[in-house]
Amino acid sequence: MNELDKLAENPRVRVRRKGAPDRDGACVVYWMQRSQRGIDNPALDVAVDAANALGKPAVAFFAPVPFYPHANLRAYRFLVEGIPDIAAALEKRNIGFVLRRYPDHSLLKFCDEVKAALVIGDENPMREPENWRALAAQKLRIPLWTVDSDVTVPSRLIEKEQYAAFHIRKKLEAQLARFLVKPENPHAKLPWKKPAKLHSLPPEFNVTDGWQIDRSVAPVNSFKGGTKEALRVLREFVGKKLFHYDKDRNHPELDGTSRLSPYLHFGQISPLTVALAVQKSGAPKAERESFMNELLVWRELAVNFVTYNPNYDNFESGENWAHRTLAAHAHDPRPNLYSERQLENAETHDPLWNAAQTQMVNSGWMHNYMRMYWAKKILEWSRTPAEAHRTAVYLNDKYLLDGRDPNGYAGIAWSIVGKFDRPWFERPIFGQIRYMSGASTGKKFDSRRYIEQQTQPRMF
Ligand SMILES: Cc1cc2nc3c(=O)[nH]c(=O)nc-3n(C[C@H](O)[C@H](O)[C@H](O)COP(=O)(O)OP(=O)(O)OC[C@H]3O[C@@H](n4cnc5c(N)ncnc54)[C@H](O)[C@@H]3O)c2cc1C
Repeated sequence: MNELDKLAENPRVRVRRKGAPDRDGACVVYWMQRSQRGIDNPALDVAVDAANALGKPAVAFFAPVPFYPHANLRAYRFLVEGIPDIAAALEKRNIGFVLRRYPDHSLLKFCDEVKAALVIGDENPMREPENWRALAAQKLRIPLWTVDSDVTVPSRLIEKEQYAAFHIRKKLEAQLARFLVKPENPHAKLPWKKPAKLHSLPPEFNVTDGWQIDRSVAPVNSFKGGTKEALRVLREFVGKKLFHYDKDRNHPELDGTSRLSPYLHFGQISPLTVALAVQKSGAPKAERESFMNELLVWRELAVNFVTYNPNYDNFESGENWAHRTLAAHAHDPRPNLYSERQLENAETHDPLWNAAQTQMVNSGWMHNYMRMYWAKKILEWSRTPAEAHRTAVYLNDKYLLDGRDPNGYAGIAWSIVGKFDRPWFERPIFGQIRYMSGASTGKKFDSRRYIEQQTQPRMF
């Protein structure tokens, strides 16, 4: 077996378009989409290893487009902030970098221009990018491989849809020793020399300049994009907050969680980097395990859900028992009904819910405990469960920096349509869907403090 065949055998690799690389090709192209980072990136590593095996240079091609579903200025700003870090990391590894943007974003055109021998992409289970990859595989004249680089255990090893965290936990844990290893970050042996006439934007260029995108959702100061910042946030978390993670994680008024979700969503940090830092930390075992339960089990359960359930972002994704029980309560009186606009403007009678919605709109993030409460109240206050599901997805994807992510669809499905959960005691509107009341959340944490934190007027 030659070096290249060995690389294709890697369980993270999926050969989308078969064939031998073009012998006369001048380089290996890494088509960067999801894994927006130059370190700890298994897709990039496969591209560099392949380039080294073929005796050719490697170049990463990144070309944002303004039509990414539900993306707005807030999300694009975060993405743009991450680009200089990508360029700097690639340079250190002797890998070329070409930044382009719509309408000059065609991968096919770029591959022709640089005479690519082979294209390596990254994986993302979401519908649209998956379609783009399928289309690229049809149209490219050279082989295309993609690499599952933003999960710990390659998704395809978990062969079908998993129905509960405890099912997938066993499967993931059985594979951890094999896959929770530090990526090698190989250097490209041959430097890539940019042809004089080849167009590439400088890494600091604001790729959204002049684009017709939704600019109604303002960028936030609460999170700055980029791998360097992600690593700083990780260091701070591992050095301090991780030591009492399990105790603090259900306290929205405390800043007790990692706040890494935007960086994981944009691929600016790898889950492997995070998991290894947590494993290596001196934090007590219980705290490490509690964190890994979220990062590994719940996050990869969400990826599995989006990979195998074509209805992942709509009401139909629910379990049969959940649909039955919600239908049985379809005509229950609903004393509080709010329109999507009222919810979006945080105009409900419930100050705790309004505070959560305000946190989402103002900071682009919401605490996990409040996300559950937030979604369950939308179910209680909407005319139908399907409408509640639609509203939750709309708001989640519009305002959260980590929105438009498998975790969001899984979290909403858990809250509203019983996904990964079991039937609970019967009650109005919810039927057997698990309920969370404001009173019960208030007993668990200092809700008054949380409300004050989110709603007090700020000068900046
Ligand atoms: C209704 C609802 C909507 C949600 N929407 C999103 C979303 O749009 N994007 C998103 O990334 N997460 C979403 N979550 C999951 C979770 O709330 C966030 O991942 C978490 O709050 C992010 O904060 P953190 O990075 O500080 O988490 P930490 O507690 O520090 O956890 C570390 C990482 O583990 C993962 N993780 C943590 N909790 C969960 C969980 N319950 N399910 C899956 N993965 C998890 C995340 O990647 C997170 O960054 C949602 C949950 C619910 C109930």
